[in-house]
Amino acid sequence: MDSELNDQSVAETTMARSAYIHVPFCRHRCGYCNFTLIAGRPDLHAKYIEALGQELSLLQTPRPVETLFIGGGTPTELSPEQLQRLLKLVGQWFPLAEEGEFSLEANPADVDANLVDLLCAEGVNRVSLGGQSFDRSKLQWLERDHNEICLQNSFELLRKKIDAVSMDLIFGTPGETVPMWEKDVEQLLHLKPHHISTYGLTIERGSSFFGRLQRGEFELPSEEVQREMYLLARHKLQSQGYEHYEVSNFALPGFHCRHNETYWLGGPYYAAGPGAARYIDGRREVNHRSTITYLKKIAAGESVVAESEQIQGSARAREVLVFALRRLSGITPAWFKSTTGFDLMTLGGTQLERFVQLGLLAWHDDYLRLTEEGLLVSDSIWPELL
Ligand code: SF4
Repeated sequence: MDSELNDQSVAETTMARSAYIHVPFCRHRCGYCNFTLIAGRPDLHAKYIEALGQELSLLQTPRPVETLFIGGGTPTELSPEQLQRLLKLVGQWFPLAEEGEFSLEANPADVDANLVDLLCAEGVNRVSLGGQSFDRSKLQWLERDHNEICLQNSFELLRKKIDAVSMDLIFGTPGETVPMWEKDVEQLLHLKPHHISTYGLTIERGSSFFGRLQRGEFELPSEEVQREMYLLARHKLQSQGYEHYEVSNFALPGFHCRHNETYWLGGPYYAAGPGAARYIDGRREVNHRSTITYLKKIAAGESVVAESEQIQGSARAREVLVFALRRLSGITPAWFKSTTGFDLMTLGGTQLERFVQLGLLAWHDDYLRLTEEGLLVSDSIWPELL
């Protein structure tokens, strides 16, 4: 296939229909967190909203979207008045389609009836609750500022008025056993959220726990125990009607996160705020991660973009392959060809065949999918396909 044709095929020709807004604030940085945020600086909230407005004004005209995602950090760390201002601003620049999905991440400790009413009034129809656990000592170790009672109450308040509530749950904290994790999953199932994201705890460089782990102050459960926890969650959630639709995500039928599907299917998307990454017209741009730098750049009338890269040809096609294979429904060669312009087996045949032989990927009719064994080691598969 000639490379000019490849580049032309891979370049995005469709308009972005999704937008992400990053709210970089939390009261406190949890010990395991290395996300883009600034902790304990409510004095910057108003300046941030103003700066965000200036960044969005570069769009010049409103861009209608089908999915909006306000993430963080903790968007609900803003005062109700500030949050309302932000939601109105975002709605102005990214008017949402009638059946659109409008997600917002919330901290359980911030949720009360007034907040839920505000979210409804501004059109938020999906809330992702950072629950993490129902075990008080696990939540304390994670340095979260809520307990299990607060989590249940916030969930109940949201469920009364918000169309879809998602819950995050972490497994694999120090000293956590499989029966302890099973109790967490059972309490989660008792609430029956529409959507569940579950992650094994990782301690990344940049988090305050990283040094403690290096110094041997605590140990994470073995890989074997973590795999057992993952499979336990998978089997329990599936037996209760949840579809395991992406490596870390489960949903009741009809409640997949449409915004994240855009990422996994290689679609274009807008983004704004410190550290936000967008993918438009084949170009990936990432904003400055430091909130202070972001504010200064905006005040000086300078660009907030820190990295910019045109991603085309086989590099883009390989990215699409890796993202799309995270979805458990898998990919077909025809879909891959129409999305990237590349023949699946010509591009990745050797590695893909090897993973099929190892039992990590499998063909089901025309679909290439992760197997259960592949799910357990998916993080080691992706680098080999890129
Ligand atoms: S609340 Fe979430 S984003 Fe904020 S510090 Fe804790 S883990 Fe990080």
